Amino acid sequence: MTKLDEKLEPIMAEVFRRNAAEPEFHQAVREVLESLGRVIAKRPDYADDALIERICEPERQIIFRVPWQDDKGNVHINRGFRVQFNSALGPYKGGIRFHPSVNVGIIKFLGFEQTFKNALTGLPIGGGKGGSDFDPKGRSDAEIMRFCQSFMTELSRHLGEYTDVPAGDIGVGGREIGYMFGQYKRLTNRYEAGVLTGKGLSYGGSRARKEATGYGNTYFVDSMLASRGTSFDGKRVSVSGSGNVAIYTMEKVMSLGGRIVACSDSNGYIVDENGVDLDLVKEIKEVRRERISEYARLRGTGSHYIAGGSIWDVACDVAMPSATQNELTGKDAKMLVKNGVFAVGEGANMPSTPDAIRIFQEAGVMFGPGKAANAGGVATSALEMQQNASRDSWTFEQTEARLETIMRNIHDTCAATADEYGAPGDYVLGANIAGFVRVAEAMRALGVI
Ligand code: GLU
Repeated sequence: MTKLDEKLEPIMAEVFRRNAAEPEFHQAVREVLESLGRVIAKRPDYADDALIERICEPERQIIFRVPWQDDKGNVHINRGFRVQFNSALGPYKGGIRFHPSVNVGIIKFLGFEQTFKNALTGLPIGGGKGGSDFDPKGRSDAEIMRFCQSFMTELSRHLGEYTDVPAGDIGVGGREIGYMFGQYKRLTNRYEAGVLTGKGLSYGGSRARKEATGYGNTYFVDSMLASRGTSFDGKRVSVSGSGNVAIYTMEKVMSLGGRIVACSDSNGYIVDENGVDLDLVKEIKEVRRERISEYARLRGTGSHYIAGGSIWDVACDVAMPSATQNELTGKDAKMLVKNGVFAVGEGANMPSTPDAIRIFQEAGVMFGPGKAANAGGVATSALEMQQNASRDSWTFEQTEARLETIMRNIHDTCAATADEYGAPGDYVLGANIAGFVRVAEAMRALGVI
């Protein structure tokens, strides 16, 4: 662990004290504070008026009860969350996660990361995150609908296109956004398209939003590779996960000439040395909603499934962790380095542990942190808000072109900021500082609020 600047040490201590038992939140704050020492050495005024303390404290945290009935008529109670972290740059913006691991600390870490990520996009969006400890696995469509409606019945009072604009995250995709939008519309009697993003195309969604996080991470990594004079062409690439982010990462990597050798879900991973058959993955995950183990069974020779274990044991040139937080540990990073990994781009939020990041950086592996590399999803959400506000709908090509420009700009901003602060090639430092400076400038201008 890097030692913190003496002005930042008490801020970290207070975050620990005030947010006990929230290790993921501590991890996310610590990583940013480790980068800020260099900023306040240059610009001590950024530490004035408790600005950094204010950035570490969410503006509002909402926790609520979500009662719902299953198909047999049994009543269940889940807990719902929305952490409205920072609105200096625009309305709170960030996804909703449905997963049994969700608690206030997880949502807080995600909201904190989201604030800097959204700032990096250069678009007018603040940071927030929400979710529930509801487990959608194995639930029928009708159960999912009733849960989404109950969740939105409470959440709706805190939202608005100028207030807070949720979207999807783990366990929340087009189907869930549709049910939530329907309930919001019914409750408010307003067709307020800009209140949610990730909507279906038939009711105000944006083309390329579904693809955006995965495509964006691929553009970010492509820019990192280009800075060292190389490209995806002919590279072996492992993508953990098999959800929305992973699927569209694989699609874009393949179109740039990379070969996907492995992907996974929370039960295990598959290896396919001939290159993963993406249509089959889409069929299993998007249509049948089954486990990735089905892949090896349906594909037959040339591929195999490993239950449990770590996808990072598979040798690859580029690793794109796109499953969940802390999925790639120090041990995994050592194995990847031993097998010659060249670049890492985080599609998920905080998938690499602090140890893993240190091992990559010490080994000279290019490392694109999630808050920069996976910003394409939320950036395209902001483009969806733009289309909704102007009652317009852009083509796929137009939208993807904007996404590509945004991602290449984020890459260049992170690289230039790292250079400016004396740490060339350190995208973690570049992302943290560039995101912080943008939020901090706006917060100073708005006074102590
Ligand atoms: N959940 C995504 C993220 O982590 C997208 C958020 C959004 O589109 O608002 O950035």
